[in-house]
Formats: sequence, structure tokens, C-alpha cells
Amino acid sequence: MHPRLAADLAGLPELLEATRRHAAALLDGLAEAPVVPDVPAPQPVPLPAEAVGLSGALREFAARWQPGLSASAGPRYLGFVTGGVTPAALAGDWLTATVDQNAMSSLDATGQLLERETVGWLRELFGLSECHQGTLVSGATMSNTVGLATAREWLGERRGVSPAEAGVAALGAVRVLSGSPHSSVAKGLSLLGLGRAALRTVATLPGREAVDPAALEAALREEDGPCIVVANAGTVNTVDFDDLRALAALRDRYGFWLHVDAAFGAFAALSADHAHLVDGLDLADSLCVDLHKWLNVPYDSAVQFTRRQDLQARVFQNAAAYLGPLGADPDLVHLTPENSRRLRALAAWFTLRAYGRDGHREIVERCVTCARVLGAAVENIPGLRLLAPVRLNVVCFTLTDSPTPARLAALADALAPEAFLTPTVYAGQPALRAAFSNWRTTDGDVERLARALERVTGTL
Ligand SMILES: *Cc1c(COP(=O)(O)O)cnc(C)c1O
Repeated sequence: MHPRLAADLAGLPELLEATRRHAAALLDGLAEAPVVPDVPAPQPVPLPAEAVGLSGALREFAARWQPGLSASAGPRYLGFVTGGVTPAALAGDWLTATVDQNAMSSLDATGQLLERETVGWLRELFGLSECHQGTLVSGATMSNTVGLATAREWLGERRGVSPAEAGVAALGAVRVLSGSPHSSVAKGLSLLGLGRAALRTVATLPGREAVDPAALEAALREEDGPCIVVANAGTVNTVDFDDLRALAALRDRYGFWLHVDAAFGAFAALSADHAHLVDGLDLADSLCVDLHKWLNVPYDSAVQFTRRQDLQARVFQNAAAYLGPLGADPDLVHLTPENSRRLRALAAWFTLRAYGRDGHREIVERCVTCARVLGAAVENIPGLRLLAPVRLNVVCFTLTDSPTPARLAALADALAPEAFLTPTVYAGQPALRAAFSNWRTTDGDVERLARALERVTGTL
């Protein structure tokens, strides 16, 4: 064994203790750290030939790279839709690397069984029935892609071919209809050989991002065979929700595959006041929920559910004698794009076990309250206006006077040490979004942001 490696093995308990102290100090300063630090990027250095051991690597990371890292796990990083990491999720993630399992096969089953327990808990959390089976994947993009891949195989079943066996060319043209699809849907269609051009956007309701069911029905009448519909449960700009029950009723009449992108919107199910937004979620043929957003587990984590796991296994089966048979209850190796995979479920398992449904409901409700309070503050700040009502956890607003992308970027930049917001365009208008999905965020953070917004808007 290399002497440095041998020394690190001999000193492992103390080295881990030092790493723990380092992590604890970092987390202790998170709430007050600059949200996105403005420091020059380190110059890349050549591959080190000489060993410095774990303590040397930790020192160098702390000096060169850590200063530039954002406080994205902290309470005022409100860009994109960004979750943090609950204490239990962090411990679960540490232990994931500690036990270093390849959770894919019943030949060494415990990891896979833990994932199945976790998926069962998530199913209950979102109010889904046992008709839905699921697996963990790396993010909502991959979750949407697995759903679309399963949909592709379903279309094949309708047309008497298996695209998984014969290739997409055998399937013929495919149409995907959606009101306000997330960009990841187009990426998934590209990856699956269905093509971005397969996506046809359907009119939304007036002043809304939710699809107009009448427009969808008109589009369906123009199709001469089964297609795929991607419903949106929580759009990124205004957190709008398609009427899932109306879409499922259309599915029963017109026979399409109903995929629901509920990346963060599914968490509305946890709040009594907002659960109606995802009424009908269980009727989906496949659905996508991110876990590294509102569940507050570390990257990379999401879950996908489907009612047709048999079709999913046709797409992702990885038959090899040494991996064991496919069987009626396929191992995870036959259900996801990866073969080898980490015990990704453990962080979710820890946070769900530690805080339960009630703890996670409190996080969701607090985030929604924060968004409401910020929305009300924005309405009262001269020079700002809301672009949409605050439906759940995102505040989408712009400048009343000349809301150019440059002026909005200047506004976001001026907020930067205090909070991080990201730009968007909604209904043709350049805008900013503040998205609340971090378990650490409290009303004090909203107050700070509102004060900063008022100050900065006045100086633009
Ligand atoms: C975030 C998001 C995605 C993509 O998720 P990743 O985790 O970044 O892959 C897809 N759909 C919606 C609605 C999202 O909010």
C-alpha cells in the first residue's frame, strides 16, 4: 500500500473527525456567508504526482475552491428551484458513501430493499396508490426521460412494435403535446430519438401557464393515433398546475399516455390548503418528482413512478447471466438508465424517517408562507410589480419602468451578496424569480430580502 494511503487508513478516525469539524464550521457560517461569492476562479493546476494525503487535500480544497462556492444550501439562495440538505439527509448522504453499496441487484439485496421501502414512503407522501411503482434516478430530467421512454414503449405496444428492440425508426412519427413543458422534456425527447420537433405546445388558459383542456382536446382530435401528453404540475415561472383530472378524462376518451412533470409541484400534496392543486396526480401513467429540490436531500436525487413497470423493464433491461434473471419483479438494474448506482435512497430515507410527514409538511408550508410574504412585499415596493399571483412557492416579478434584461440583471447583481435570484421571461416580459424550497429559510430571511429589494430598486 502506498505510504500515504496506509497513513490515512491508520489515521482514519481522526481524519474523519477533522473533516467533520470542517463541515460543521462551514455549515455554521452558511446563513451569513455571501450567497454567491465574488472571487476569482482558481487557475487549474496539473495532476499532482506527489501524495499529500487527506489532510493536505482538505487544506488545498479549503484554500483554493471552497471560497468560490455559493451558499446554495443556505436560506437565501432563491435561484432556479433549489433545495438544501436537512441534517438527517446530510447524515444519510455521508453514510451512503461510507457503505458504498451498488444498489441494483437481488444477488446482494439489502440496498435495493431499502430503496423500495423509501419509494413506498414517497408514494404515500404524494398520495399515490400502489398502482405506481418507482425508482430513484439522478434528477427530474432523468425522471422525465424515464417516463417518456416508457411512454415510447407504450406507443410501440399500440402500434405492434417494440422500439426498445426494433429502434425508434420502427415506431414512426410521435407527437408529444404539452401546455408549458419544462425544457428538460425537449432534452429527453432528443435523447430518446423522438426528437425535439415531436413536441407541440398547446394553448394555455388566458393569463395562465396551465394548459387549456379545450385546446388540448382540439389538438387531440387532429392526431390520427395515440400520442403522449406531458402535463405540468408546478411550472417554474408561476407554479401553475394543469387540471390533472380533466386531462385524465381526456386520456380515457382519446387514449394517450399521460406523463406528469411534478418535479416540485408534487409537494403541494403535503399541504391541506394546496393539495387540490395536484388532485388527480395518481391518475398519471408516469410521473416525475425531484427530491433534491423540496425534499431537501443533496444532489443528485429524484424519483420516477409509473403504472407500467413492465414497459419500463422492456426499455431498461440489462440481461446478463451474472446479474440474475429479469423475473416478474425486476431488479433495479433492469429499471433505470444506470447499471451500477449508489444507494441514492439513503438520504431520502433518513430525512423521511427523521422528520416524517409532519416535518416535511412544515417545510413546505413555511416555504409557501415565505413566498406569500415576499409577494405581498413586492406589491408594496415602488418600482416593482408581480407578474403572477403567488400560487405556491415562487414569486415572479419585474420592474414597472423599462424592465429590460439588463436592468433586471443589475437588480439581481445588486442583491447578490444578500440573496440569489435568477432571471426569466414570463409572458414575453423579462422578470426575476424567487423560489422558496430550502428548509432553512424563515420569515427573517424574507424580511432581509424585501429590505434589500426596496433599497436596490430605489437606486436603479
Ligand atoms: C427542476 C425541474 C426539472 C429538471 O430537474 P433536474 O433535477 O434539474 O434534472 C424538470 N421539471 C421541472 C418542472 C423542474 O422544476
